[in-house]
Amino acid sequence: MAAMLQPQIILLKEGTDTAQGKAQVVSNINACTTVADTVRTTLGPRGMDKLIHDDKGNTTISNDGATIMKLLDIVHPAAKILVDIAKSQDSEVGDGTTTVVLLAGEFLKEAKPFIEDGVHPQNLIRSYRTASYLAINKIKELAVSIEGKSLEEKKALLAKCAATTLSSKLIGGEKEFFASMVVDAVLAIGDDDRLNLIGIKKVPGGNMRDSFLVNGVAFKKTFSYAGFEQQPKKFVKPKILLLNIELELKSEKENAEIRLSDPAQYQSIVDAEWNIIYDKLDKCVQTGAKIVLSRLAIGDLATQYFADRDIFCAGRVTEEDLHRVAAATGGTVQTSVNNVIDEVLGSCELFEEKQVGNERFNIFSGCPSGQTATIVLRGGADQFIDEAERSLHDAIMIVRRAVKNSTVVAGGGAIDMEISRFLRQHARTIAGKSQLFINSYAKALEVIPRQLCDNAGFDATDVLNKLRQKHASGEGANYGVDINTGGIADSFANFVWEPSVVKINAINAATEAACLILSVDETVKNPKSESAQGEAAASAMAGRGRGPVMRGRGRGMRRR
Ligand code: ADP
Ligand code: MG
Repeated sequence: MAAMLQPQIILLKEGTDTAQGKAQVVSNINACTTVADTVRTTLGPRGMDKLIHDDKGNTTISNDGATIMKLLDIVHPAAKILVDIAKSQDSEVGDGTTTVVLLAGEFLKEAKPFIEDGVHPQNLIRSYRTASYLAINKIKELAVSIEGKSLEEKKALLAKCAATTLSSKLIGGEKEFFASMVVDAVLAIGDDDRLNLIGIKKVPGGNMRDSFLVNGVAFKKTFSYAGFEQQPKKFVKPKILLLNIELELKSEKENAEIRLSDPAQYQSIVDAEWNIIYDKLDKCVQTGAKIVLSRLAIGDLATQYFADRDIFCAGRVTEEDLHRVAAATGGTVQTSVNNVIDEVLGSCELFEEKQVGNERFNIFSGCPSGQTATIVLRGGADQFIDEAERSLHDAIMIVRRAVKNSTVVAGGGAIDMEISRFLRQHARTIAGKSQLFINSYAKALEVIPRQLCDNAGFDATDVLNKLRQKHASGEGANYGVDINTGGIADSFANFVWEPSVVKINAINAATEAACLILSVDETVKNPKSESAQGEAAASAMAGRGRGPVMRGRGRGMRRR
C-alpha cells in the first residue's frame, strides 16, 4: 500500500496532470484533431484564409499551413508536434503544409475508436508504419518523370507545378503570370542551393500585375545625402566596387584625446582628417568603378565627391543585398580601398535607378554570373503582399524541388485516392487485426479529396463515390476532384501536378507524428519547474506593474 502511494506523494503536488493510459492517448488525439480542424478549411484552391492577430496588434492573413500553425501559438504538448511537422514540411519541401497536418489529424482520428476499444497502440503503430511504407512505394511507382525534356518543355511543365501550388493562394487569380515568373527566377539561379539568391522585394501599391522579375539584383534606394541627385542614375556595363567601410568624414576629436601645446597644431589635425577621407575617395575613383556600394555609411562629402566625378554611390546597403550583388556581378566585398585590383570589381550589363510605385529602386540587370534573381512584388495592402510573398516562396520551393527530383504526381486528391484504393486492396490479403488498421489508414487518406470538395462547397460524398468507382475500375488512377465543375476529372491531363516529393514527405511526416502521439500514454508535468516558470512570469509581471499593485494594496488597507 505504502509502495503504491509513494510515487503519488511525489507527483501529486497541486496542479499535477495525472492523465495516464488510454485516457491520455485519447485526450492527445482530441487535441490534435482540434488543431487539424483549424487548418482544415484552408486546403485547396477554394480554401479559405485565416486572419490571425496577436496581442501586439499585428495581423496576418494566410493560407499557408505552416504560417498559421506557427502563429496559433499552441501550448498543448502533444498538439505541438503537429506544429513541428508543419514547420519541417515547410523547410523540407516548402509546400503541402496543410496536407501534412490534415493527414496526421485524420490518422489519429481513425485510430481513436480502436484505442477506445482497447487496442494496444503499438499494434496500430506497426500497421500504420507498414501502410506508409507501402504508400510511399506506390507513389514512387506512379510518379512521372519530367527528365530529358527540352528547356522550353521543362519550363512549361515546371510552371504547371508552380501554378498548382499558387492556385490555393490569394494570388491564385494571377497564377500563370506568377508561375512563369517563379520558374524564370529558379532557373536563373541554376544549381545553387542558396535560396536567398532569389530576392523578393515588396512595394505596396500598384497592381499585382505590375510585379516584375529582375534578372539580377534590385534593392530599394538607400538613404542618401545632398549631391546624390547630381549622380548619374544609369550605366551600361559599369564596374562595381563593393565595400564594407565607412566613407565619412570622421571627426576624431570625438573619439580620441589629443593634447596640443600650440593652437596652430589644431589645424594640422583637421587637415589630417580631411586627407584620410580624400585619400580613400581618390582610391575608390582610381579603381575605375562607376558604382560604389557600401554596407556602411557613405557621407555627404563622399556623395558630392562621387557626384563630381560621375560616379554613383549607395551607402548602408543591407548585408544580404550586398552579398547578392556580389554573387550576381562577380565582385568581392572589400574591407579596404588599398590595392583594389580589377578582379574584385563586379560588373553587369545595365545599372539603373528606377521608380517603382512610391519607391526608387537600384536595379542591376544582365549580371554575368546570373546567379540571382529578384522579384519585385506589387499589390494593395501590406498583409496582401506579405501573403503573396509567402505564396511565392511556396512556389519557388516547389519548382526547385521539381527541378531536382523531376518527378510529379497528379494532384487534386488523385494520388491520395489511388493510394487509398491500393492499400484497401492490399489489406484484403492480410489476415488479422492489421487488416482493419490498414483499412483505416487508407480511409484517412481520403481526407484530402473530401476536404477539397468540402471547401469548394461540393457534395463530398457524391464526389468521393465517383472517385472510388473510377479508381477501382483500374484506369482512373489520375482522376481527382475537378475544382471547376464539382465533378471528377483527370488531374494529370488538367495539369494539376505536384512534385512527388511533396506527397512522400507529407505521408512520411504525418505517419511519424501520428505514431509518436499514439505512443505517448502519459504526460508528466513537473510541478516544480512549472511553479518556477510561474514565479518567473509573476515576478516579471510585478516588475512591470509594481506601482499600481502597491497602490491598490495601500488603498485596500486604508479602507479597512
Ligand atoms: P498545402 O498547404 O498542403 O499545400 P494547399 O492549400 O496549397 O495546401 O492545397 C493543396 C491541395 O490542393 C493539393 O492536394 C492540390 O492537389 C490541390 N489542388 C491545387 N490546385 C488544384 C486544382 N486546380 N484542382 C484541384 N485540386 C487542386
Ligand atoms: Mg500549397
